[in-house]
Amino acid sequence: MSGEELFRLTHSKLETFRRCRKQYWFAYVSGLPWPRPEETPAGIVGTGVHRAMARLCETGDPGDGAAELDVYLRMPEHAAAGPGTAWWELAFAAYGRGVEAHRSILSEARWAELDSWAPAKRLGITVQSKADRVDRLGPGRWQVIDWKTGRFDLDEVVDRQLDLAHVIVRVVRQLPREATVRAVAWNLRTGEQRVRELTREDAARTMDYLGRMAAVMRAESEFLATPGVHCGFCAWRSRCEAAAQLEQEGLDVLAEEAEELSAPDDFAIEWD
Ligand code: SF4
Repeated sequence: MSGEELFRLTHSKLETFRRCRKQYWFAYVSGLPWPRPEETPAGIVGTGVHRAMARLCETGDPGDGAAELDVYLRMPEHAAAGPGTAWWELAFAAYGRGVEAHRSILSEARWAELDSWAPAKRLGITVQSKADRVDRLGPGRWQVIDWKTGRFDLDEVVDRQLDLAHVIVRVVRQLPREATVRAVAWNLRTGEQRVRELTREDAARTMDYLGRMAAVMRAESEFLATPGVHCGFCAWRSRCEAAAQLEQEGLDVLAEEAEELSAPDDFAIEWD
């Protein structure tokens, strides 16, 4: 692999490839500028709570996170989740749960928003990931948290995200070989925690898998569209013929053919 440019992998890139290869082509192959993402109240709440949790992690003072969340939600462009809205209430309720979560974690050291990358030259890839919070709980024991604020999360997607964050934290923080990591997706809206207990061997297997995925992604040349419910969240939708066609025609073409196949003569029942 020496001399060859390393293939960059992120959680979003991998998930986009899995979801729809046309969307992947738009975002990572075409070179087109990315459309500005549409801001939704749920998205504003998510960003605001993440920013508040980062402040809380940095200083340990709940007032710092609350002040950050308050200012963020009062910004005119965030009026959809501003004071007086149900979204504002939801954001502060989630932050309240975040403060409880913070108090429940007893750690020797902690880091907010650990965003890093690491090359794996043997595999020809470079992996980038961000962990919302990392704690050293004790000698050889660590915790990685991804805060969630949505109504629900897809388990398999969350698991893959945690595995990626685990790999990066293990390398960037130079964890000893025998260290174990509790990787948690902690939903501050529902209070639910999804936990993965991960070891050095798990990290090696994740890297192995990423190397193979990178080879598949690099070899892709068709980039066929996979329209579905996810099109509703796709920033490229206005440029996507496949989604427009599906919306226009739906299954009518097949329904039409079915009508032709079941012409009355074929199924006529003769009664005496
Ligand atoms: S609109 Fe749907 S089918 Fe088209 S690129 Fe986006 S996700 Fe894929």
